[in-house]
Amino acid sequence: MRSVACARTEVIIVKLAETVTFGGGGLDRAAHLRGDADAMARLAAQPDARCLPVWRGKPLMRGEGVSELALLPCDHPAILSEVGSRDTRVFLGHGTDGAPLFAVDFSTWEPEHVDAEALNLFLDPTEQRHPGLPDDHAFAELRRIMTRLTPLDAEIAATAKAIIGWHHTHGFCARCGTRSDVSQAGWQRTCPACKSHHFPRTDPVVIMLITHGASVLMGRSPGWPEGMYSLLAGFVEPGETLEAAVRREVFEETGVRVGAVGYLASQPWPLPASRMNRCSGEAVSREITIDPAEIEDAIWVSRDEMMTAFAGQHPVLKPARKGAIAHFLIRNWLADRLD
Ligand SMILES: [Zn+2]
Repeated sequence: MRSVACARTEVIIVKLAETVTFGGGGLDRAAHLRGDADAMARLAAQPDARCLPVWRGKPLMRGEGVSELALLPCDHPAILSEVGSRDTRVFLGHGTDGAPLFAVDFSTWEPEHVDAEALNLFLDPTEQRHPGLPDDHAFAELRRIMTRLTPLDAEIAATAKAIIGWHHTHGFCARCGTRSDVSQAGWQRTCPACKSHHFPRTDPVVIMLITHGASVLMGRSPGWPEGMYSLLAGFVEPGETLEAAVRREVFEETGVRVGAVGYLASQPWPLPASRMNRCSGEAVSREITIDPAEIEDAIWVSRDEMMTAFAGQHPVLKPARKGAIAHFLIRNWLADRLD
């Protein structure tokens, strides 16, 4: 357990398991203001108000090596030219200094050269520079730059990406098919025909550190880079508990039976719309029978082997990617401080 200084002067206690990328940065979401259009206009007009542009899921970054989030004044000419007077700002809340924060969607902007193939890669290396912004500003993929962000900026970027992405894929009423309208400062869609309300969607996923004695269960999916193994993960199904999802997914993918399951912490994972529920579990069987439709391989990795992998010296196994949930869980398992 550790204390962190959080929103305003409060001090809250968080578990170590919460101190991870997208683990929360103290954004005050001020949800009670979302339905108040006058308050929204007033907040956006404040001199300290800031807007984060997001282009096709990529937040705007700035600085050498695109090292920090680029929050612009809400009346920045580039925002006015891309978004115009359309009220499409999403109110994210107040930063730890009290400044109002918004997200704006730049996705209709067509850059001159776009490498469409790169945009779909697991780690999209391309950056897009808007002509109306300084040269050191660029849209960059969140997965690639997430470890450079402060906890607050990571929460701002994750929230902005998730909610703008939701508007892109949920423009029509799921009940009657009519195009729905944005309401509640971007946090709801309302159908003008049948009056249904629709809310941003977050899909629950379990990612689990399954141990048997001093070994941990790792799997790899087809197409992953050579030597890359990670913890097993899977979507929680309707009507299912997290614990049952852990046991089911591990058994389906590897044939291993899991007994006691523990919950560690949750984490937004807007890639594109998940919430990771980090769990631990104790295997009660060791034999592995993989389901080739789900994974390519699964192995038990001993603590010693994992130490060697983390040191980059294992002949086969590569260390989990920094910033990834698996990396955090395994590192803390190795240090004996999974709590
Ligand atoms: Zn409807």
